[in-house]
Amino acid sequence: MPGDGELSCAELVELISDYVEGALTHDCNEQLEGHLRRCDGCDAYLDQLRRTIEVTGRLQTRDVPHEVASELLSAFRGWRADTG
Ligand SMILES: [Zn+2]
Repeated sequence: MPGDGELSCAELVELISDYVEGALTHDCNEQLEGHLRRCDGCDAYLDQLRRTIEVTGRLQTRDVPHEVASELLSAFRGWRADTG
């Protein structure tokens, strides 16, 4: 975990499965939620993840290949570059 209270998108993606499972510490949870409020890309990612869980009944993020996560992160960066 970063010590400065700022979570990057990459770190959020690493943590989000634990977040959805309720496995994070309170502090970690707060940091993640703070990021979600600031970051539309990660907010959308969480939304998508929750929908996946509804459909599949379980969390699949650990099975997502690294390339997919990288693509997502690239998409986030492009998106954020657009919006400032
Ligand atoms: Zn983000």
